[in-house]
Amino acid sequence: MTEKLGTLPVARSIAALRRCVTAWRRAGEVVALVPTMGALHAGHLALIAHAAQRADRVVASIFVNPTQFGPNEDFNRYPRDEAGDAAKLAGARCDLLYAPDAAEIYAPDFSTTVSVGAVAEPLDGEFRPGHFAGVATVVTKLLLQAHPDIACFGEKDWQQLQVIRRLARDLDIEVAIEGVPIVREEDGLALSSRNVYLTPEERRIAPVLHRTLADVAARVAAGADPDAAAKAGGEAVLKAGFTKLDYLAVRDAESLQPWVARVRPGRVLVATWLGRTRLIDNEPVAPRNS
Ligand code: AMP
Repeated sequence: MTEKLGTLPVARSIAALRRCVTAWRRAGEVVALVPTMGALHAGHLALIAHAAQRADRVVASIFVNPTQFGPNEDFNRYPRDEAGDAAKLAGARCDLLYAPDAAEIYAPDFSTTVSVGAVAEPLDGEFRPGHFAGVATVVTKLLLQAHPDIACFGEKDWQQLQVIRRLARDLDIEVAIEGVPIVREEDGLALSSRNVYLTPEERRIAPVLHRTLADVAARVAAGADPDAAAKAGGEAVLKAGFTKLDYLAVRDAESLQPWVARVRPGRVLVATWLGRTRLIDNEPVAPRNS
């Protein structure tokens, strides 16, 4: 049974979700899934718009997945606003909100984990132990629950996007994974549900992050040594007032391993802290043409 939040149909159970999606697929309609953790902003709505262009029906999911948060991370204070989110989705081209509670996703004796391997190991894999296993497991479950033709994810979480592409391919999940470009504020700050944590002073410093990434990407494209450019970028971020740097690195865009040969697309990726808030961002680096 679906209920309604305002005008938006909401499925709380896997069974209710499947009833809707099965009926649409039987009618020959293409279905897209947009997984989120809620506190929706224009970045999420760009995913919905992309999905609506590619599919007849769009399902958005909201689930703040406990297993992808570390013990000292912000699970409890993560922003939650289901009514506000439903209003935003109703104003976008979303047909159904899937909003299960934790008991629907994790039985008390749940014990299976999807572990993706090398692409999930460096960078956020190193600084957030267990994070990608939590993401990979819940995304696998959401894909199997909703059985969409297409699933859309933001390039904002670049390593996550590569992890999800890999798991869908390796586990033969019949879905097209689509990446959607990062939506930014006018000053370059990537939209994030966590930006609400920033104090006015931190918010003033935050745009340095994207400016620095763009600068590192330009220097490397012009021939600078990737490691030296990344090191200088990290120093610039700390000098601007960021309080801690987890990493700033230039990597192969798909494998996230060191970008040695420079013949494939590269990516500059950063994770850094402003006080209690961890920000991530990334920027492309074109391969050498020769
Ligand atoms: P979240 O709710 O933070 O888990 O994000 C849900 C989805 O929205 C993920 O695929 C994110 O990569 C994507 N997303 C978050 N912020 C942005 C953004 N600024 N631009 C594009 N996609 C985003």
